[in-house]
Amino acid sequence: MRVTFLGTGGSVPTKQRNLPSFAVRTDGGLVMFDCGEGTQKQFLIAKLGLNREMRILISHMHADHILGIPGLLHSMSFMGRSRDLEIYGPPGIRAFVQCTTETVGFRSMFPVRVIEVGAGTAVTTDQYTIKTVWADHDFPCLSYALVENEKPGRFYPAKARKLGIPKGPLWKALQMGKPVRIGGKKIDASRVVGEPRKGLKITYAVDTRPCERVVRLASGSDLLVHDGMFASDASERAREFGHSTASEAATVAKKSRSRSLALTHFSAIYEDTRQLLVEAKRVFPKSFVAEDLKSLELP
Ligand SMILES: [Zn+2]
Ligand SMILES: [Zn+2]
Repeated sequence: MRVTFLGTGGSVPTKQRNLPSFAVRTDGGLVMFDCGEGTQKQFLIAKLGLNREMRILISHMHADHILGIPGLLHSMSFMGRSRDLEIYGPPGIRAFVQCTTETVGFRSMFPVRVIEVGAGTAVTTDQYTIKTVWADHDFPCLSYALVENEKPGRFYPAKARKLGIPKGPLWKALQMGKPVRIGGKKIDASRVVGEPRKGLKITYAVDTRPCERVVRLASGSDLLVHDGMFASDASERAREFGHSTASEAATVAKKSRSRSLALTHFSAIYEDTRQLLVEAKRVFPKSFVAEDLKSLELP
């Protein structure tokens, strides 16, 4: 999976940071979390592809997380998207999309389906599942965890050859975990294929206080993307507005036994985020600062 941070600022954009949006490229298409104003341009720069299978998952209805939706839909339509697109979010998202498209006379050239969700399982596909919990913000806000399905184990060609199985469709069947017959004898896939490999897990939790529900949701994540809006000397502000400090985000990463932490949704008061990173690393060394248009491949 390849992840790209499209916008890493919070509340208002700055010269360096666009408003929140985070994209994940999976085998089953593109998954985008939040769509702050200006996301359409970041989307183009990141070359994420206008006509992929795609789902957008919105954390909450605060303006900095949703105002990019109408523009993105408009651009995609204008540039020839034909595949349908699904938008998930908390109650209110359907009225928002309807209102902001109808009042400007926009008619999409591709089907747009809006699905309102709460805590539970939002999406299940052949490739992944997306689970949600309510975060702890000053407005109803969802955190999401994308969990890739288990993948078939490694295939050992030498073992297959030794059993007299010729390369071709039989190998393919074994790789898919199906048994094959050779000379009237049944051969189970487990004889030539290793243990199934665990899928990757990415948790997206912005606009939230550190919270147990998110800790449980994020359990064992390969990457936790978490609200780290303030440094610790602004912890009162974080509490007041339902956000986290960088070190609080790091505590969530540590408690959830995540493998890495991306701090995001920075307040515009921080042109320099080094202090936030230092504070997070004291608690959770595998922390890093998300930057606009930064991409990374999860192994
Ligand atoms: Zn926000
Ligand atoms: Zn918010």
